[in-house]
Amino acid sequence: MKNIDKYRGVLVFIKKEQDTFVKNNLGLISLGRVIADELETKLSAILAGDSLGDLPDKLRSYGVDIVYTVDNPMLKRYSTFYYQKIVCDLLKESNPEIVLFCSDDVGMDLAPRVACEFQTGLSAHCMELKTDKKSRQLLQICPYFDHMATILTNTRPQIATIQVGAKKDLIRKDNRKGKIIDVVPDFENQNVKILSVHKKEISDQEKIEEADVIVAVGRGMKNIQLAEELATTLSGVIGATQAVTDADLLSESHMIGQTGKVVQPKLYIACGISGAGQHIVGMQDSGTIVAINTDENAPIFKIADYGIVGDASKVISEILKILKN
Ligand code: FAD
Repeated sequence: MKNIDKYRGVLVFIKKEQDTFVKNNLGLISLGRVIADELETKLSAILAGDSLGDLPDKLRSYGVDIVYTVDNPMLKRYSTFYYQKIVCDLLKESNPEIVLFCSDDVGMDLAPRVACEFQTGLSAHCMELKTDKKSRQLLQICPYFDHMATILTNTRPQIATIQVGAKKDLIRKDNRKGKIIDVVPDFENQNVKILSVHKKEISDQEKIEEADVIVAVGRGMKNIQLAEELATTLSGVIGATQAVTDADLLSESHMIGQTGKVVQPKLYIACGISGAGQHIVGMQDSGTIVAINTDENAPIFKIADYGIVGDASKVISEILKILKN
């Protein structure tokens, strides 16, 4: 085991997108603040991108003690090689005991590479993080089949990605005025160059994370067309569980949950979905949750605001009739 005493502090990875922070990053900072306070240590953030403007200052106002800024034109678009280099170089300098990323596309790409470079563990898609003050261990709580597992890492740094959608209540301003340290990246030996970028057209369906209404289908929903009709009638989009995308009934872009997308619509209608932990982590922050299931003991009813026990196709047909009238 590495000499773990030389590692101190919590570091969060923050990404710039257009002129602001990537969605959910403020939740990550606030969570990092809570953990740093529990361990009586400092919270640092690495903010990378180009033309960072006043974003470093804004970060300080959310309770970051040290903001490391890497402002470079090469960081305009996310590129694994450049981002891995700046994060790993900084970790070698600052030796944090805990490093946190959002469970988003960037976090899921970057965190395993950083963990691999440091030969340390990574807990992906955590739902909750706690600390054991005495041992300075990070308790990384993730869904594991039908249970929640608590993972401990005996190497340093302890690295985790977290679904921060669920932590939005944590976000709060903090008056401390932390330091801003500009880091000059060393990209000399980086031989990857982006020559051109071809933007993929994103359909409304693929922007499922931004939808106000989601009609989500699970294995128990036999008539997906009907669910699509309801989604269209409510100006919403269609979501799915892994059981449905694995069966190729809908594409993976519809999948919601631990492996899929994290959504927060105003209305989430779950049709024939049991409510496995891996699905719940992706939708539990929805405004109003309506669940339709034939099994009155289905776990989805525990988090639903309204539950309807019945055949999902029949129930949706009735709802459509009412809406059309
Ligand atoms: P089931 O669990 O089979 O549930 C079907 C439900 O339909 C049942 O509750 C049943 O009572 C009900 N039903 C049956 N007939 C009807 C009817 N006629 N009308 C109404 N209800 C009916 N899953 C995800 O969704 N997203 C993820 O991101 C994800 N990531 C995973 C990651 C890992 C590492 C692992 C191990 C699993 C992951 N899973 C994920 C899978 C997850 O564990 C569940 O298997 C999956 O969510 C179950 O999907 P389901 O609810 O559609 O199917």
